Amino acid sequence: MRLSRYFMPILKENPKEAEIVSHRLMLRAGMIRQQSQGIYSWLPLGKRVLDKVNAIIRDEQNRAGAIELSMPTLQSAELWQESGRYDAYGKEMLRIKDRQDRPMLYGPTNEEMVTDIFRSSVKSYKDLPLNLYHIQLKFRDEIRPRFGTMRSREFMMKDAYSFDLTREAAEHSYNKMFAAYLRTFDRLGLRAIPMRADTGPIGGKLSHEFIILADTGESEVFCHKDFVDFDIPGEHTDFDNVEALRAIFDKWTSLYAATSEMHDEAAFNAVPEGDRLSARGIEVGHIFYFGTKYSEPMGAKVQGPDGKEHFVHMGSYGIGPTRLVPAIIEASHDDNGIIWPASVAPFDIVVINMKAGDQACDDTCELIYAALSKAGKDVLYDDTDDRAGTKFATADLIGVPVQIIAGPRAVANGEVEVKDRKTGARETMTIEAAINRFVA
Ligand code: ATP
Ligand code: MG
Repeated sequence: MRLSRYFMPILKENPKEAEIVSHRLMLRAGMIRQQSQGIYSWLPLGKRVLDKVNAIIRDEQNRAGAIELSMPTLQSAELWQESGRYDAYGKEMLRIKDRQDRPMLYGPTNEEMVTDIFRSSVKSYKDLPLNLYHIQLKFRDEIRPRFGTMRSREFMMKDAYSFDLTREAAEHSYNKMFAAYLRTFDRLGLRAIPMRADTGPIGGKLSHEFIILADTGESEVFCHKDFVDFDIPGEHTDFDNVEALRAIFDKWTSLYAATSEMHDEAAFNAVPEGDRLSARGIEVGHIFYFGTKYSEPMGAKVQGPDGKEHFVHMGSYGIGPTRLVPAIIEASHDDNGIIWPASVAPFDIVVINMKAGDQACDDTCELIYAALSKAGKDVLYDDTDDRAGTKFATADLIGVPVQIIAGPRAVANGEVEVKDRKTGARETMTIEAAINRFVA
């Protein structure tokens, strides 16, 4: 991508409305724009990051055996009347009427709709287990939307829903998502700790919130500090192995970890004082097992091996991609801007032409840009005629992991500089060596 032809509206000044660093940096880097309170456009740079986050979430959902579909944002109130949640949900639900005066709503979550899909076609235990997910916009009319896309009214959610014949089978489905979440957050460059959680309006029996420790987090959390170094389940984890997944769950729930709603002071005080971590955290994922809470009122049942009908046991599993992007920034930035983990960076490399219009600089940059693009790298080429200082500041702000800098003096020697955004380390090398480093 040539910056001269891209759309990346950088802000020079610090936006006054931004209270936390991720919100400030997302606005300054031109990633998002607020359209009305708590409702955001994702501008091209932000969209690239969001897409990469979603690709990792999708990859791990698929690995764990979940199946992707897409459900609409607008739902009919009827389904919610069946479950009893239409009245229970309260003011967070945006209620709308269509031209025939039929009550509709903008979905805050999808338990009812997915249960309706399930009951319309699944009739036998032989079709279980089943886990269906989508990545879709939600709307919750939050009383206090704030911190940019961290807590917005319209936001994106990956929500998965599992269906099983028995409680035991449903627990295995829960453990699959538990392990998939550990892997997902790890690939996003984050350490998320599963904590015992309140089941809230979704209702249920077993529930964990996945929390990232951050000073700006809205939740108060308490846990054993060893969680910070626990091993993440590997790429070759067998998601069909009931015992292996239970062992992962047992290990990751063996020490104290709870949000303030579930906090047990006495149990926490039993943890040796030096191992206690009491901190603030950001909830990035939340999983529930809620048994037959929806399947009973909505009549979602299958025939079991005994020939009888059974209400299915369900769970639901949410991750917030539009909250994860600022959460990653909270965890990874410095005074100059964002430092993206390579896995979600909007571009892999930025090529900085310090003197656009200078033949040698132009030729060198074009050569590098073409070679790296051909090798499948996402490259941003700063070919604008801004001052070099402005270009360096922009490159640092947008946090691309590698900068290749071509200035007239180095280029005259057949060389460029390669800068690592995270460490700030700079190395001078031949043009060929710079290309080979990232093509190999
Ligand atoms: P919170 O306690 O932060 O209000 P919640 O418990 O109501 O969230 P869930 O119903 O568990 O949220 O939703 C699953 C995930 O969706 C959350 O873990 C979070 O990542 C994301 N999410 C929920 N509400 C918002 C929001 N207003 N803005 C952005 N992301 C959200
Ligand atoms: Mg929650």
